[in-house]
Amino acid sequence: MPCGIFADTGYTIHNCSSCQFAVVLAQSCGCKTMQTILRLDLAGQPRGWITLHEAVTAYAKGDVVYGIGDVLPPIFGGIQRINGQRSRIDLQPIVAIQGRIVQGFCAPLCNRTLFRRDDHRCLYCGQQFTRTGLTRDHVLPTSRGGTDRWENVVAACKRCNWQKDNRTPEEAHMPLLAVPFKPNSWEWHFLAKDRIFADQMDYLSKRFRAERDWAA
Ligand SMILES: [Zn+2]
Repeated sequence: MPCGIFADTGYTIHNCSSCQFAVVLAQSCGCKTMQTILRLDLAGQPRGWITLHEAVTAYAKGDVVYGIGDVLPPIFGGIQRINGQRSRIDLQPIVAIQGRIVQGFCAPLCNRTLFRRDDHRCLYCGQQFTRTGLTRDHVLPTSRGGTDRWENVVAACKRCNWQKDNRTPEEAHMPLLAVPFKPNSWEWHFLAKDRIFADQMDYLSKRFRAERDWAA
């Protein structure tokens, strides 16, 4: 298969030197974000985002136990010697992959997911900002024993962060507009991705605990 846009699928395809299947780099819609597959463990718990290429490899190795969601445009590989047919894999947007089930999930904390948790709003003045207009504010300042964990951090605009200074919200008379919380696995996987398939959103949003308008 030649490299280039693969007309039947709308994906941009490049051949992979290490496996027989094409590497899907991006959809040709102009979107620069590579679409990814939601990986589950066998218990159905979200366990990460994998590239389409990684999902194809898992299918080819027989590691995919089941898939969920509408089948995506097919990925074609090389011609099979036995029957002369081109090999083909029908990916689904959510796949459960072989492996041991690990209990619990610790949501990594970074500004990108933190600001998405707070809907890019300053939790003191309520205004929305771009990512560069926000800072990570420690509700109980670190200099006074506050730790860098989800329940003690909020998005704050630079002005409110400066105004609050080294004080608690109570001391600064700046009440929080929402209670900071630690996202569960379903919430965190949603927050970690800018663009997801509708089936992935449906799957994740069923287990959202936070009363936020993310699923709208
Ligand atoms: Zn503010």
